[in-house]
Amino acid sequence: MTIKDNKLISLEHRNFRNDDFWKEIPAWESVTRGEFADQLWQQKNSIRKVEQVKKVLGDRIDESFYLDIVAAMHVVPMNIRITPYIFALMNWKDPYNCPLRKQFLPVKSQLLEDHPFHEADSLHEDADMPVPMLTHRYPDKVLFLPTTICPVYCSYCTRSRIIGGSTEAVEKETYGANQKKWDAVFEYLTRTPQVEDVVVSGGDAYMLTAAQIRYIGENLLKIPHIRRIRLATKGIAIFPMKVLTDDDWFNAVCDVVKLGRAFGKQVVIHTHFSSPNEITKWSQMAMDRIFSEGIIVRNQAVLQAGVNDDVETMVKLTRQVGYMNIQPYYVYMHDMVPGCEHLRTTLREGEEIEKAVRGTTAGFNTPTFVCDLPGGGGKRNVSSYEYYDEENGISVWTAPYVKPGQCFTYYDPIHKLKEDARKRWSDPKTREAMVAEAKKKAGF
Ligand code: SF4
Repeated sequence: MTIKDNKLISLEHRNFRNDDFWKEIPAWESVTRGEFADQLWQQKNSIRKVEQVKKVLGDRIDESFYLDIVAAMHVVPMNIRITPYIFALMNWKDPYNCPLRKQFLPVKSQLLEDHPFHEADSLHEDADMPVPMLTHRYPDKVLFLPTTICPVYCSYCTRSRIIGGSTEAVEKETYGANQKKWDAVFEYLTRTPQVEDVVVSGGDAYMLTAAQIRYIGENLLKIPHIRRIRLATKGIAIFPMKVLTDDDWFNAVCDVVKLGRAFGKQVVIHTHFSSPNEITKWSQMAMDRIFSEGIIVRNQAVLQAGVNDDVETMVKLTRQVGYMNIQPYYVYMHDMVPGCEHLRTTLREGEEIEKAVRGTTAGFNTPTFVCDLPGGGGKRNVSSYEYYDEENGISVWTAPYVKPGQCFTYYDPIHKLKEDARKRWSDPKTREAMVAEAKKKAGF
């Protein structure tokens, strides 16, 4: 702690974990630092099946906890995929409360019934798709999904409807790279001059080969009106070794950024740290390499109960990503997608945390807390709703430029409401009446 203007400021965010933490995992206790640092070793040893959880942990996992994971896998929309890096950072002494375990390895006992108004595609991305793999909602910006494969699968993923392959509960059309379909996207963009900004997401840019990164980058950059490209990857947060040891991939990203600069265009990376527990010396080293190439990196976190829904954690996350030269950009309210009710927070909680975080560091390094409106209204600042019935957990919003004249609603998780409100939600007619009343109060 240090003293500034009578305020104690923790400097803990400057400490980057650098111990041999993976050696706590029985199967990896003899894995050397060199092996663990190798991206190929990380890929080869990623956890992809529930049985592997038990295999690598041996007697460090309690049988009842293991069965709790097995039970969850029968009902959740996401498969398991976890890098050894993130798996070893989980707190296996207290797995029920570990913020990393909660993000990637659900347990049945913590799952809650989905909200009645949840949707598999809550942001209506598919409805705004003029050609496959491309969502065009904002006038000058598009979302390009060239793959639906990721280096990890997150329980809270907004695209669990397509990402990560079918599960027992959900049939999906997961797809990998498909150059022919990408060419149709480039054709659409070439004949759509209002588009200046392309988010290349998915899926995850980490799962594209060096040649695919170059192909996508070069084809987008040669479209005259495209001015900005964002490559989205959670990779730096969950698998920093790839930045450090996959030179082909890294050089491809650097070359696309340099080509963009030569054209007077911006190519940046958007990453996705949601918990300070994901951050180690490896994250810092990966960011040092990226920063040395002059590449801008921004962070988008998702607000999740038991992961980062307290001021102390969010302040630490904000400061620590800022310290690594990553600009905290957004913190999202959790989308209303299946299998995630236990991870959602109320809108008021989002507002309160944003209020507390603002002012703890420089404004340009402070994330904007947003709600991505169900139904496709786009991202709105958490405090910009038209009306908020906090008692019943109903907020009403507009998106004047994106969808003029329309109203959108976001709902707090029902289990966080008082008992009488919970009762009201249990009756479909009363529930519809409450929503209609909230919309009326908002002027609709
Ligand atoms: S990395 Fe992103 S796209 Fe992939 S599962 Fe996680 S949240 Fe979804």
